Amino acid sequence: MEPMVSQSLEPRSTPTGGLSSAIAAACRQARDEQELYDGCRSVLVKLYGTDALWLSVTVSGSTERVGPTDRSFDQAVEVFRCVSGETLLTIHAEPDAIRDAQSLPHIGFGLSVALEMRGLLLDRQAALDDATFQLGALRQVVRLLSSVHSTEETQNLIHDFMAEVFFAWWAAFYRLEGGQYVPLHSRSLGEGMTFEPFQGRGLDRALPPGSPATPPSEVGVAEVVPPGTELVVPMDAGGERLAVMLLGPRLNQKPYGPSEIELAGALSQAASIALTNAELVERLHSAATTDGLTGLLNRRAIEERLSAEISRSARHQVSTSIALMDLDKFKLINDTLGHAAGDRFLVHIGQLLRKHVRSLDVSGRLGGDEFLVILPMTTTEEAKVFVNRVRDGLREFHKANPEFGLSTISVGLAQAPRDGDTVSSLLAAADAALYSAKGGGRDLIRDVTEG
Ligand code: GH3
Ligand code: MG
Repeated sequence: MEPMVSQSLEPRSTPTGGLSSAIAAACRQARDEQELYDGCRSVLVKLYGTDALWLSVTVSGSTERVGPTDRSFDQAVEVFRCVSGETLLTIHAEPDAIRDAQSLPHIGFGLSVALEMRGLLLDRQAALDDATFQLGALRQVVRLLSSVHSTEETQNLIHDFMAEVFFAWWAAFYRLEGGQYVPLHSRSLGEGMTFEPFQGRGLDRALPPGSPATPPSEVGVAEVVPPGTELVVPMDAGGERLAVMLLGPRLNQKPYGPSEIELAGALSQAASIALTNAELVERLHSAATTDGLTGLLNRRAIEERLSAEISRSARHQVSTSIALMDLDKFKLINDTLGHAAGDRFLVHIGQLLRKHVRSLDVSGRLGGDEFLVILPMTTTEEAKVFVNRVRDGLREFHKANPEFGLSTISVGLAQAPRDGDTVSSLLAAADAALYSAKGGGRDLIRDVTEG
């Protein structure tokens, strides 16, 4: 339709001067698109002294129209149309509502440029918000790196911040176990999503250690990862694959673009360092508390546990027992079969203890052929049941491994707080009982009260 032209009425102000600042004010004050279009329309309403006009703005195929609801739009005719960049602006008015159509092109064009610029500014603002958010994520990662967490906690933290940074619908953190990537941590905002292990070799071939974060469109990746995966983030260190994070679609429906892929790469490097550190700390801790031969707690660690258990038994007024065990004539195995066979026998004793203790109990090797088991909430009478199970196990072992000869154990039992309320006094009581068992002919269990 032809723009309506009428010369009869002057606009209430000139198209320049006050008008541009009125449009600028509308742009500045608007908190959302609706307010912006309302504000721009108000400028026109004021200028032409009529409410009978409608403003339509089309951006990326979607149209927003503002105008009076108490008037019929059907009566309106298009009086202006202009495209500025991505923005199409049309103005409709009731016939004869706008009398000075001459100034309309200036005003309309000014409006469309203002709307287009505002759209651009909003895009820039969104990009800036994203960058600020990502900076926050990096700060979180730095915090993660600067404090020590367990491997489990570290994995969980990595999983959470990756999912949050990218607003992913779902995220899963996988580690290689027995040739498969196994999902150790996962979450999904959708219903019924389950995560299954998948073959490790396929992914490692498509994305060898050192590969960047990759959308599954890359050759060989889509076939191995679960359907719906939109970003594969490998975590590698020293040429080795530590873990892989898979991310589903983003909540904002935007694809993972180059900046997200670059950020994922930076985060995965930080995550790999955090994982390596956590595992190193755990290994060091384990080396400091574990007996290298049997894998049981070492003397220092089991004495620390004993101290904690004695305090706990005092607090809850329950008994904690200890069983101090020493192999009988162990030197004979060393002397006849050699030190290595002696070691193997000690390893077996460690396995035997581990097999027969309850989950509450703790076992350790004090040194040589001497072992200590802590049995919380147990009297020495009850502890004898456990010790006899171990002795039965030892007899079974000898049947299956006759080359070691028949070996027995002597056991001294003591109970806190009855026989001692400190580590040294309780150990001394158990030691006295063990001494008595050895003196009584070995292969005996003695409670300290039995003398
Ligand atoms: P008893 O019945 O009096 O306990 O006699 P025993 O031969 O077991 O004597 P004792 O407990 O005093 O000696 C323990 C021996 O264990 C002495 C040492 O040669 C040996 N031993 C200590 N540590 C290790 C070890 O790590 N490996 C091996 N194979 N032998 C060890
Ligand atoms: Mg011995």
